[in-house]
Amino acid sequence: MSAHTIGIIGGGQLAQMLAQSVKPMGIKCIVLDPNPKSCAQSDAELVVAEYTDAEALGTLAQRCDVVTYEFENVPAKATDTLVGQISVHPNPEALRVSQDRLNERTMFAELGIDTPRYEAIDSLDDLFTALETIGAPALLKARTLGYDGKGQVLVSDASHAEESWSTLGKVPAILDAFVPFVRELSVVAVRAQSGGVVFYPLAENVHRGGILRVSKAPARGVNDRIEKQARDAATSILNHLDYVGVLAVEFFQIGAGDDARLVANEIAPRVHNTGHWTIEGARTSQFENHMRAVMGMELGSTDPIGCSAMVNIIGDEPRPGALEAVPEAHVHMYGKAPRAGRKIGHVTLNTPNETDLDALLERFTRVVG
Ligand code: AMP
Repeated sequence: MSAHTIGIIGGGQLAQMLAQSVKPMGIKCIVLDPNPKSCAQSDAELVVAEYTDAEALGTLAQRCDVVTYEFENVPAKATDTLVGQISVHPNPEALRVSQDRLNERTMFAELGIDTPRYEAIDSLDDLFTALETIGAPALLKARTLGYDGKGQVLVSDASHAEESWSTLGKVPAILDAFVPFVRELSVVAVRAQSGGVVFYPLAENVHRGGILRVSKAPARGVNDRIEKQARDAATSILNHLDYVGVLAVEFFQIGAGDDARLVANEIAPRVHNTGHWTIEGARTSQFENHMRAVMGMELGSTDPIGCSAMVNIIGDEPRPGALEAVPEAHVHMYGKAPRAGRKIGHVTLNTPNETDLDALLERFTRVVG
């Protein structure tokens, strides 16, 4: 084994599940997070400090064999401090791209990946001009620090431009054409240090209020052409960034059947919520494969096992006894305090076929809500 201790920047549930995935291999994780209540401390040693704290980063560099990260807003100063002291995977360049929606869309364009039509917005004048070319409704999205539907405003028509620009906070943004998508799909891909790339089957994702609620995988009715379009996009991004680890690409599907095509919305340079189903639903989970990649190990099989649905538990804990009443549900509670809109856990439902999955999901929804 080429690594014994892995450093993780960020101590949330993704770090927690990363640490859980390598525990059976005897690998220890040290997470860096300013929050002393970080949930990953259930499975990893927690270093409480700011992400840019040179001493804490030095501790990580000294005590770990490799450092990875679990969220895309890691400050560049943190990775700059680490690089030179220790290997950091994925390539911090992926953070620079994904922290800024305009950089992300520019990279998609350079790689020939289709996206929604968009324009860069730096002023109210830009917004009026873009609304003329793109049309309304359209989504005004802050270039930085937006996630889970935060930092975006729907502009229903040009008469709402000024109000939308103020609501967003007059920050650099992009205006995205509103895509009348049929559904949202994502691909979770893993690139090894050798450069080999493997993929999990596409997941179909349902968001409400900008937050992921349910992912089903393998997504149904995906033809080979669509699967290939998603995989080719992920591969060109991974190779372009000389990336090691798990990366997710989120798409909108436009049209159905033979007319179906994908446009890429964004990337996540990390393990992804639409890949949580892989813990029970694939031969090797996205978490273990991410860790295998950053450690320089061979990747495990991404083959699915039957059909899976992942349901996020958001905001409140389910009422007492509800989860236990569906014994087939694989429950992952993260140990986070309930708060509106916060992901505090997820469950995976896994069955041999789609009909059984639909019935189980229906029962789960009825019992748990
Ligand atoms: P994002 O923060 O870009 O991931 O967007 C959050 C959610 O808003 C997405 O999952 C979609 O449901 C919706 N959304 C984002 N961009 C668009 C778009 N251009 N057209 C329609 N819906 C969108």
